[in-house]
Amino acid sequence: MSAEKASACPHCGSTTPYWQPKVPANGLGGPFLLYGLETGFLPTATFDVVVCADCGLTRFFAGAKERAKLPKAKKWSRVEQPSGNRLVVRTVGEEKRNA
Ligand SMILES: [Zn+2]
Repeated sequence: MSAEKASACPHCGSTTPYWQPKVPANGLGGPFLLYGLETGFLPTATFDVVVCADCGLTRFFAGAKERAKLPKAKKWSRVEQPSGNRLVVRTVGEEKRNA
């Protein structure tokens, strides 16, 4: 667990986070989170999950293997900062404008 993941809760400031590594992102009947970043013979993707014991804020951190696939993953687009600090967020699967 990195210090960044275990830092104080960004919502309530609590310093009592709990975490669980490599939680499957396949939903088991729900949505496939991290779609397009699966690895292995039986495609799986995982998160490290951090839950604040005081307010319940839950944070998901994609694993290193999944993150390494992002630059070439067709279903994911990088958030661009074309000018100043203004963010342009595109939805997952949206056609890449500058490709
Ligand atoms: Zn909290």
